[in-house]
Amino acid sequence: MKKLICDRCGMVLMDKGNVSMAFEGKKAWGEALRAQGNEPRGVFPCMNFIRCGGEIKLTSNGGIFWWRH
Ligand SMILES: [Zn+2]
Repeated sequence: MKKLICDRCGMVLMDKGNVSMAFEGKKAWGEALRAQGNEPRGVFPCMNFIRCGGEIKLTSNGGIFWWRH
């Protein structure tokens, strides 16, 4: 099973509703970042983006888990 996890605060997105909502906004978000000359690190911004500045990454079970504080 795939997991979506923030690369800064470690928040895990598990709820299917949240995940599909986030994926819907992901294309526009990526384009907005590229328009500013940035590349997205993850697939979409963390819900706590204002606080943590993190981006959500897709991991599978047993995948890479790393935490930055
Ligand atoms: Zn976060």
